Amino acid sequence: MSDADIGLIGLGTMGAALALNIADNGFEVAVWNRTTARTQEFAKEAGPFLASQITPTETLKDLVAAIRAPRAIILMVPAGQPVDDQIAALAPLLSPGDLIIDAGNANFRDTNRRSAATGNIGFFGIGVSGGEEGARNGPSIMAGGDAAHWSRVETILTAIAADFQGSPCVAYLGPEGAGHFVKTVHNGIEYADMQMIAETYGLMRDGMEMTAPEIGNVFSGWNDGPLKSYLIEISATVARTQDAATNGPLLDVIVDAAGQKGTGRWTAIEAQHIAAPVPVIEAAVAARNLSARRDARAEMEALFGTGPVPLNGDITLDEMEQALTAGKILCYSQGFGMIAAASNEFGWDLSLPDVARVWREGCIIRSAMLDDMAAALSDDPKRALMAAPVFAEILAETHVALRKVVGAAVAHGIAVPALSSGLAYFDTMRTARGTANMIQGQRDYFGLHGFERLDDGSSGQHGPWAV
Ligand code: NDP
Repeated sequence: MSDADIGLIGLGTMGAALALNIADNGFEVAVWNRTTARTQEFAKEAGPFLASQITPTETLKDLVAAIRAPRAIILMVPAGQPVDDQIAALAPLLSPGDLIIDAGNANFRDTNRRSAATGNIGFFGIGVSGGEEGARNGPSIMAGGDAAHWSRVETILTAIAADFQGSPCVAYLGPEGAGHFVKTVHNGIEYADMQMIAETYGLMRDGMEMTAPEIGNVFSGWNDGPLKSYLIEISATVARTQDAATNGPLLDVIVDAAGQKGTGRWTAIEAQHIAAPVPVIEAAVAARNLSARRDARAEMEALFGTGPVPLNGDITLDEMEQALTAGKILCYSQGFGMIAAASNEFGWDLSLPDVARVWREGCIIRSAMLDDMAAALSDDPKRALMAAPVFAEILAETHVALRKVVGAAVAHGIAVPALSSGLAYFDTMRTARGTANMIQGQRDYFGLHGFERLDDGSSGQHGPWAV
């Protein structure tokens, strides 16, 4: 008793894998789960070797007693009320100096609130990415809260994190909910990456009449090039998997309505709060919402005509690969821009190169490109990622294909909302003289909001607005 290095509450998919990872790295971990049967099952599954590192407990009191003081306890339960409930149940059992670490997908505003509210019990928030496999073998970890709390858990979190060429994919990013904020943006980017891949799948399926295994082979090929990433790799496997029941591709029998737990939506909402433009992510969130409206889509198809028309060789697979490359750079440029905006807004002093570094391995959006992004952001953290020489050069080449792909899709009635948002963002950003002068004229016309003049720089000007 009272020997464990750390405690963990919540032995679901992520918590169980994380506890085994901690034990595997030589730390002693005490665990507790709301449903005791699960704790017993977990202890059995851990096997005799790891069991010596794990203390299963059946009450919170026993859990607390099993951990060496000052204690650190990880919560791996669903975000929201369950976290507040667990804190409320634990707090009376803890002592000053003990630390609760929320490792779930919390809304960073909840983490801010909890950090401020737990009094002499510390509270720390970590975003953990990589799914079950990552949690078991090395996730990417985005930490936020008091630096003093970080130093208490740094050794364990560094040991269990993914490794990219000798560098652990974990970083203390900033105070309060900074870690959970960065995890939220990570998930927003994940939504966008997945949506853009799904759009190229749609172009191949509906525009080129390719079969799922053929599309899987294309993704496989792309995984040897600039798009090399976990999401492209798994998309290849998903597309190539056969269904035993129908003897056809499993993908063909999966309902086209995407689930979501809210982190992509939070990214879009927070982006609006801090006026950070992330249109590719917003398009991806909207696309998931639209995907759920299957009946409405069937009705509209009946009303407005047939679905997509074949592309008839208008675009090539190479152009599609380039379009996806351009879309990805534009999306990440927006995501890092949003993190920079939040850093300013909340006074967090976030290091963008560190964010890129912890995303290089372990997490769902890990990709070869993230290493170049980390280097580009280190070179000049204030410059937009899309303007870094290495990415500006790729964009200069690939935006032509992005335009061609989006143009062909539009002409043939195939929806590519994320790719086309990326293109619109690119065109907006490279147009020094935009069209908001018209909006300022309209605002002044109906609301006397005033405008600034280009010629003499004077502000608060009003038009006569008469012909
Ligand atoms: P699971 O549903 O697999 O497990 C949930 C765990 O939380 C179970 O141990 C469950 O206990 C416990 N739990 C549920 N409700 C309560 C409650 N009200 N009070 C106490 N314990 C409760 O979830 P995951 O492991 O997938 O997710 C856990 C957290 O990790 C979430 O915040 C999730 O968003 C985040 N996450 C998940 C990822 C994934 O790929 N699954 C990736 C990254 C983060 P019981 O056995 O009693 O039901």
